[in-house]
Amino acid sequence: MLTSELLETARTHMTPNYAPPPFVLDRGEGTYLWDQGGKKYLDFAGGIGVIAVGHNHPKVVAAIAQQAARFCHSSNLFYHEGYIRLCGRLASMCFGDRTFLTNSGTEAVEAALKVARRYFHARDEDRTQFVAAHNSFHGRTYGSLSVTGQPELHKGFGPMMPGITHVPFADIDALDKAVTAQTAAVIIEPILGNGGIKVPPAGYLEAVRDLCDDKGCLLIFDEVQSGIGRTGKWFAHQHEGVTPDILTAAKMLGGGLPLGAMITTDEIAAVLTEGSHASTYGGNPIACAASLATLDIIEEEGLLDHATTKGEELRVALGELVSKHTCALEVRGRGLMVGLVLDRPAKPIYRQCVIDGLLATVAGGTVLRLLPPLNVSSQEIAEAVAIIDRALNSLD
Ligand SMILES: *Cc1c(COP(=O)(O)O)cnc(C)c1O
Repeated sequence: MLTSELLETARTHMTPNYAPPPFVLDRGEGTYLWDQGGKKYLDFAGGIGVIAVGHNHPKVVAAIAQQAARFCHSSNLFYHEGYIRLCGRLASMCFGDRTFLTNSGTEAVEAALKVARRYFHARDEDRTQFVAAHNSFHGRTYGSLSVTGQPELHKGFGPMMPGITHVPFADIDALDKAVTAQTAAVIIEPILGNGGIKVPPAGYLEAVRDLCDDKGCLLIFDEVQSGIGRTGKWFAHQHEGVTPDILTAAKMLGGGLPLGAMITTDEIAAVLTEGSHASTYGGNPIACAASLATLDIIEEEGLLDHATTKGEELRVALGELVSKHTCALEVRGRGLMVGLVLDRPAKPIYRQCVIDGLLATVAGGTVLRLLPPLNVSSQEIAEAVAIIDRALNSLD
């Protein structure tokens, strides 16, 4: 179909909750995407931080094709190799020995909330409530939306799940007041993603861990965005040397295919007795094959270290824009999870970048968020920063 026909059909037949710019993507390679008109875009949106090793990495493509040729789906009534191997692999990457696979981040969060409640139910403790952060983002289904600390996303969808308290991010005193004898878990993003790329001060996550231990509730880290190498370690909490009780991952985990994970300890996982929770598609064989290939590439190509050095490069280059443009206030982030904070809504800058051939995202209203693939090159970083520089010129 012609682009113009597709855009017309999109306008009349898609639900209006998305408002993409007027072009249709056609193909991708590495850090680049092309639209149907042949225009090339540098992709620092990465499918919202999903594209871990670039578009169409040959090894990921081969893994997907090979699994598709064997079988596409089996449900979890039967074992398949990819699910088992991925659970083993995740156990080697973090504290948790047990994994439940899902299709998305929101489902991983739902599983985490359900497991936390059931853990206390099994111990005859009346703990069903949750404490989360203002401006947090945990997903769009009712449980995860309820813990999401952005009232505008709740608007018109209420009532939310009861028993949820929100406190300012990185405020340990507020958290201390909010956690009670009814709290099942505190759920926190170790780095606020959608809320505007905020890194808490050193020691905060450790203080949260201690607080949860003192008060007898569980700690959930939502690393859907910050996990799988985004910040230069497999998981962002590993920079701080603290471990949660339950961890969620998704986005880069599937290397472009829909896949999420709820990871926990042996002790906590034991409450998921046979039949207590399930997903028809979760841990689908093709998604698992793409994931295992992606994790292999991250290891073989040393992409955790690469994310650290390239992230530093990106932040330094953006820092120069901060000293040059009055509308640019600050650069935040860790590894390749980076935000450029503006003194005004970031949408116009985002739009100008897209026109000039750079895809990015907006977070927290005033932050231009950059989540490039972990194997992004110095030259691509320089190219992206030059486009942002030109876009900022239009505001000064
Ligand atoms: C994206 C995101 C989610 C939701 O993931 P979906 O796959 O869109 O359901 C949950 N938590 C965090 C931290 C996220 O960034």
